Amino acid sequence: MKIGFLGLGNMGAPMAHNLLKAGHALVVFDINLTAVSSLTDAGAAAAESPAAVAGHDVDMIITMLPAAAHVKSVYLGESGLLAAVRKGVMLADCSTIDPHTAREIADIASKQGNPMIDAPVSGGTGGAAAGTLTFMVGGTDAGFSAAKPVLEAMGRKIVHCGPSGNGQVAKVANNMLLGISMAGAAEAMTLGVSLGMDAKILADIINTSTGRCWSTEVCNPYPGALETAPAARGYTGGFGCDLMLKDMGLAIEAARSVKRPVILGAVAQQLYQTLSLQGHGGEDFSAVVKLYSERQTG
Ligand code: NAD
Repeated sequence: MKIGFLGLGNMGAPMAHNLLKAGHALVVFDINLTAVSSLTDAGAAAAESPAAVAGHDVDMIITMLPAAAHVKSVYLGESGLLAAVRKGVMLADCSTIDPHTAREIADIASKQGNPMIDAPVSGGTGGAAAGTLTFMVGGTDAGFSAAKPVLEAMGRKIVHCGPSGNGQVAKVANNMLLGISMAGAAEAMTLGVSLGMDAKILADIINTSTGRCWSTEVCNPYPGALETAPAARGYTGGFGCDLMLKDMGLAIEAARSVKRPVILGAVAQQLYQTLSLQGHGGEDFSAVVKLYSERQTG
């Protein structure tokens, strides 16, 4: 297939490389020209605007952009995708944005004859590079079936979550829980160590007990608990605190729209906001443990 790909950042670039590896022809666009050249060096063609990508006679267009404002401008802007795309071309937005905006853009796209899915991902930059992402897809059955073979070149698990926007709903719910569970893991680990436990032994106990979760088992926030976690390498790599802060904000905003309390989510959001204010926004979000221990603050 000939695929347009817009947004070649930490996630988008490796995803686009995997599409090339799978034999698809690519036309790419990013406002960052260095990001574009990494793809053109690998055989992709470059376009000068979103509209120009759509003008390349592509079969499908994928976007992987920072936030809703970027997605809106790339799809709905003056030289945006929808102004130029041929009827019938499939659109897939893989960015993490709020369900409301995802539904709004998909509605406009489908009214002009372009099926659109929201397909946010989990798996991080490692999963993007390895082609093992999970895609949470919102859209029609037909849209899901058409996009699935292409998404399979970038991911291992492609799940149809329901109608338009539901991919973002799944993503927002999962990441809110992740943000809460990491803060909980940080709190429990710090308590146990402060009361005299060895971090590794405590982690082992929790990971074979009922407190076990991804945040204790795979990404334990306490230094010394797990050699493979970001905590063992100064909280570098992994999932950035500011990205978690963005996702917690999306969850709280989405909860407001349906008037549902997200009490723990709101508390956790404030923790990541404080951590970011203290200058740790670029570190892995498990650095939230720093808020619990004087020894590690700073
Ligand atoms: P990033 O900031 O590394 O990349 C975004 C890219 O979009 C950049 O190359 C930027 O130049 C480009 N861009 C910005 N505005 C543009 C525009 N108007 N037109 C074209 N290109 C534009 O972000 P990322 O880490 O790749 O994340 C992308 C999305 O994936 C976000 O929504 C993020 O929340 C989500 N996500 C990220 C991770 C992660 O671990 N990084 C994991 C899951 C989901």
